[in-house]
Amino acid sequence: MMLGDPPTDREPTRYVKFAWRDLSNLPPIGKLDYAPKRPQAFRIFQEGEFEGRHTHVLPAIKRREVLPALGRCVYCRRQQDACGRRLNLTSEHVIPEFLGAGLELAASSCFDCQRTTSDFESSIAASMFGPVRRALVLKGKGGILERTNFPLDIGREISRREFIPLRHYPTILVMPNLYPASSYSRRSPHSDDLFNFQVFNVNAEPKYLRQYDLEGFSSQSIDLVRFCQMIAKIAVVYGTHYFGFDTFNPTVVDFVRTDFPPGNPATGHFANVGCLWRRKRLATESLHEIEVGEMRWQGKTMAAVRVQLFASYGMPSYYVTIGE
Ligand SMILES: [Zn+2]
Repeated sequence: MMLGDPPTDREPTRYVKFAWRDLSNLPPIGKLDYAPKRPQAFRIFQEGEFEGRHTHVLPAIKRREVLPALGRCVYCRRQQDACGRRLNLTSEHVIPEFLGAGLELAASSCFDCQRTTSDFESSIAASMFGPVRRALVLKGKGGILERTNFPLDIGREISRREFIPLRHYPTILVMPNLYPASSYSRRSPHSDDLFNFQVFNVNAEPKYLRQYDLEGFSSQSIDLVRFCQMIAKIAVVYGTHYFGFDTFNPTVVDFVRTDFPPGNPATGHFANVGCLWRRKRLATESLHEIEVGEMRWQGKTMAAVRVQLFASYGMPSYYVTIGE
């Protein structure tokens, strides 16, 4: 079986985490690393070519910036409900507020669509980015969490929790490195595996962990389906602002608007969301970056958006095709 083939005799992978079984494998504080290390697997797929047109950078200091209203829901594109009443549209954060970003699209989300997007965003905020938000002091709607001890997962296959005081809590920013999405590579749309994790050690110090008799620990669990929904949502909102409604037929927005109850296996989340291996990015000072452009693959040109969260920490760029 080649990497990237659809799952056959097993449940599709939805939740992933990375375990450090040996503290000497941690990257030094303030350094970026990859885990597991797979140096030679980089040319498995032929991939599309992205040509950027415009980049929006978000600084590390949160700054409120409001993009003009679209007059319709950015997701379902409705202006009216089934009875012909004008929909009440609320403003939409392009990048979730809990990631320290103040970029908004005015009056652009209906109630139904907002319920779905805020569902997956709040679950990602709590499960994947909780420690990072505390360590980097990113303020969301609820301000900074105020507790003194936090659970650390020290289990390998199953979760086992140990409570660690905040000042010694090991925080590692972990994001998945993906294969190219199937819309711009030969990858099957039902494949579910990821390449590896990109990790940045914010403050995990082996000497403190040994003080608590810990020999290893796990990263936060990542729900790949909801993570891809969050990335695709950012791409749809900013891409629609930039391109307008009439220049492309949406391809990823139905995925963004679908409810995926926790625990259910799902595939298809890598159909439009993935990484490019050949396109190199320069180091940047911005906290987050969004770049709109075109993706070319097998004679097709698609509207595409690059989303790079925690760009200044060297985290991966995700390329999302939003329409044709
Ligand atoms: Zn809507």
